[in-house]
Amino acid sequence: MSTQTPVSYHCPNCGKDVAERAPACATCGASFEGLGWKPLKPGETYEPARDDSPPGIFYKACVVLGVGFLIATVLPVGAYIVQATLGSILNPSFRKISPAVYYVVSMGLNYLPAALVVGVCFRRFSVFQRVPYTHRSPVLFGLGTSLIILYLFARVVASTVPGGGAGFAVASFSPFVLWPALLMLGIGSAKLLIGIGRSRANPSFQPTATGGG
Ligand SMILES: [Zn+2]
Repeated sequence: MSTQTPVSYHCPNCGKDVAERAPACATCGASFEGLGWKPLKPGETYEPARDDSPPGIFYKACVVLGVGFLIATVLPVGAYIVQATLGSILNPSFRKISPAVYYVVSMGLNYLPAALVVGVCFRRFSVFQRVPYTHRSPVLFGLGTSLIILYLFARVVASTVPGGGAGFAVASFSPFVLWPALLMLGIGSAKLLIGIGRSRANPSFQPTATGGG
């Protein structure tokens, strides 16, 4: 009780020193509340016994691309900027020369900047470390992002077919593919936000409040 052994604890996610009862890691933002993660003693390693192990790269890619697509669809800021700056390059003649390249370039310019911003923000605010695994929705993000990538791929392939009939056919499928996908991504994003809100509701972490080492 009164004897304070000078044991240094470390974060299971990034390995940096943390206080024994810290609610979160000051370095990477990993939350120790409501999760299986906790500050570890020297020599201890984290064993992912439950589903609360850190999310994998495939899940992270699905979430970043999916949320980026959702934002680019709801707020097509990137599309306006592209049209204003590169409108002369992406003019109809380019579309005629190579419709597939035109679609790939315009889709890339629309969605990738949004995904990039999402990725940077998620990293800055340690979203993947903060969200409890109960709020990750891997199926919603995996399925939603896969459907959108498949749809975009189908549109690019259809654009190479002369005549425009294939493109029209793919476009007519969009309500049955895009809307469910956007709905899945929307629900998944809302759950992510709720998860972050929960980890933020914890008392703020004060580094080395009791240590003083
Ligand atoms: Zn950490």
